[in-house]
Parts: sequence; C-alpha cells; structure tokens
Amino acid sequence: MNKLSIADLKDLRGKRVLVRADYNVPLDEKAAITDETRIKETLPTIHFLTERGAIVILCSHLGRPDGKRVESMSLKPVAVRLAELLNQPVGFANDCVGEDVRKKVAAMKAGDVLLLENTRFHAEEEDNDPKFSEQLAGIADVFVNDAFGTAHRAHASTAGVCKFIKICAAGFLLQKELKYLGEELASPDRPCLVILGGAKVSDKIGVITNLMGKTDAFIIGGAMAYTFLKAQGVAVGSSLVEEDKLGIAKETLAKVQATGVKFLLPTDHVIAQKVETPVPGQKKPKIEFKNPQQSTDATIEVGYCGVDIGPKTIARYCAEIAQSKTIVWNGPMGIFETPEYAAGTFEVARAVAAATQAGAKSIIGGGDSVKAVKKAKVGDKVTFISTGGGASLEFLEGRELPGVAALTDKA
Ligand code: AMP
Repeated sequence: MNKLSIADLKDLRGKRVLVRADYNVPLDEKAAITDETRIKETLPTIHFLTERGAIVILCSHLGRPDGKRVESMSLKPVAVRLAELLNQPVGFANDCVGEDVRKKVAAMKAGDVLLLENTRFHAEEEDNDPKFSEQLAGIADVFVNDAFGTAHRAHASTAGVCKFIKICAAGFLLQKELKYLGEELASPDRPCLVILGGAKVSDKIGVITNLMGKTDAFIIGGAMAYTFLKAQGVAVGSSLVEEDKLGIAKETLAKVQATGVKFLLPTDHVIAQKVETPVPGQKKPKIEFKNPQQSTDATIEVGYCGVDIGPKTIARYCAEIAQSKTIVWNGPMGIFETPEYAAGTFEVARAVAAATQAGAKSIIGGGDSVKAVKKAKVGDKVTFISTGGGASLEFLEGRELPGVAALTDKA
C-alpha cells in the first residue's frame, strides 16, 4: 500500500490523534451490545497510540440517525465497553464537534482516550460538508482511519477531515482488510475460488467482472443464481429473479465462457411454495414460504421458489472448495435465516473451514456470510473475516475507497 501507515508515525507523545473507528455495532432494545467484534478489532490501533503517549480521540457513526440526535443510537454503551476492554477510563463527549468537545480535548493528557458522540447526528457528516470536516479536524494534529466498514463512503469523518489535517494514516485494522482483500487476491495461491450468493445479481456483477481474470472458478448460489439460470433459459418457477438484469447476466455468462473460467450454477434446489398473505392495512402482501422439499431436477415449476441449493449441488460445490487454495466468499447460498433452508450455506461454511485447515486461505466478506460462518461455529477456522460488508464488496469490485484514497501518500 502506498499510503502512510500508523506504524510510520513518529513522535506521538502529546499529539492529538483523531481516530475514525467503525463502532457501528448491533445494540438490543436495552442498548446492550450484541456483537463486539468491531470494538475488539480497534484495540491494536488504540494500544499502539496510547503506549506512545498520544492523546486518542475516537469518532464513529452508529446506525442511520439521518442527521438527528437519536438516543438509541448513542455511542455511550461503546465507551463503557471500550473502557473495560482497554482496562483504562474512556471519556465520552455528548457531541462530536463544538465547545464542550474542544474543552474536553484540551484537558486530556498523554495516553488518555475520549470517544465522541455519533458523527451521523449531524447531517453534515454524510454530506461531507467542508465546514463540519474542518471543525472535526480542528481538535487533532494527526488523523488515523481504522474504519474499513465505512471506507467506501466519502463522509466528513472518513475523507473530508483529511483536507484539514496534514498527517493522515491507515490504522492496523484498515491495513489488515486491505492486505487480505487486496494484496492476497492480487496474486492468489491457485486454484483460486470465488463463492458468491445472496439476494441480488446487481450487487455482485462488478465483483465477477473484476475477479474474472484473477480467479480459476466461481460458485454461484442464493437468489442471484436464478437470474443466471433464467438467462440460460432454465425454468426457475417463481424464484426471485431480477428481470432487468437478465441482459447483463447473459453478457457475463458469455464473458465467462470466453475467458474459460469455471462458473458453477446450482443443478438442484430446495424449493418451497410461495404464499402471499395480505396484511390488513398494508398494501404489500407478506411473502411466506411453505412446504420445503427437494427438487429432483434442475428446473423449478411455477408457484415454487428456489430457497436453497440442493444436495447434489452441495456435494459438487464442497468438492470444488476442497481442492481450492484461495477462497473468497460473499453471500449465503439460500434463505439461511430459516433453518429448513440453511443446509447449503452451512455445508459451504464447513467445507471452507475444512479447506482452510488443510492449508487454503479463506477470506469471508459481507454481513450474511460472516453471520453464517459464525452460526455454523467455524468462525475461528477461517483465515480472515472482513468487518465491512459494503466496503469489502466495493473493494472486490476494484473500486477505489474514498476513505483510503484521502490518506497521506507514503513519501
Ligand atoms: P445479500 O445481502 O445480497 O448478501 O443477500 C442476503 C440475503 O439473501 C439473505 O437475507 C438471504 O435470505 C437472501 N437469499 C439467499 N438466497 C435466497 C433465495 N433463494 N431466495 C430469496 N432470498 C434469498
């Protein structure tokens, strides 16, 4: 990476370092944190700074408060948990800009840590407003971006502040993400396999196009498989299909054939009846699936939907996974939130873990595949789990991430 790293920073004692973290953690109705992975992942960066006597000012967003103060999206519970994890007090400021923040920062000593309130309580954050960026930047001498999950957004706290702070470096988490999703995939150990699933073809077409020349094979599952199958003329019944993406699906299939990369689509499915239940007072009927059953052939009859890959497909996909040396996975193989339709996703998760134990590198990105890997209890048996869903997809598409582009170039 040609960007300044936190490890390159010298003479940090007494310097005010603004760290953009990704503390967008899930909270339950009692404001208890239900998954603290994102908090723990920032500890190496914070320790590095406090051990060198820096004054650490953390900022982040949480949820989508749309520019208003929403108490249920306060970062206060994160400050409490962070203090426990760091084993030192963590101050909390009720806003991210303003007089009170300036006073709190002025009173900080070397090694102190302060967390600012949700940056998205201000509409100017997502607007990347220059005045707001300048205010945020005004409390710091150095900026460190460690928020990979938001690096694909050009917001005030991810990119805007870099215009007003001279030294802007990548934190350890950001670097780790870029290493696995970027460097490892630039020259992967072969055979290299990309597994894609989830709801929409439109979200993943860019990834297929970008990785076509780098990978040896693709495995496709989830609803996105039905758009590809329909584009090939296969009957997919009432499965979820993006009709307006059939053209691009056809073009992609033609490109895949021309490059000779393997492109596996499901050949059997778990199917279920689609039942649309009218909800009183609501225009859109609620969609339910009933009577799961295995489809014995490749086609699906009208009135039925593909909800998971079938047993023959699972066996074929797992065999492909077993012989791969680099595996990238984004998106579930079926509606895995429903236990009857989760076998495909969980079997793939277990096969990826087994291949990793046998020496392959596995990189899991995207919220749902991460959930699936954890639910299948193999979270500790894969090489790397990305903390950024949208960011990891955009990076795999080959796009420049504004939060990375804005950092200082290495001399
Ligand atoms: P994505 O955010 O694009 O990765 O999509 C994840 C969602 O896709 C999950 O909530 C799954 O339930 C859903 N999904 C996966 N397979 C299917 C399918 N065959 N039909 C409908 N939804 C699906």
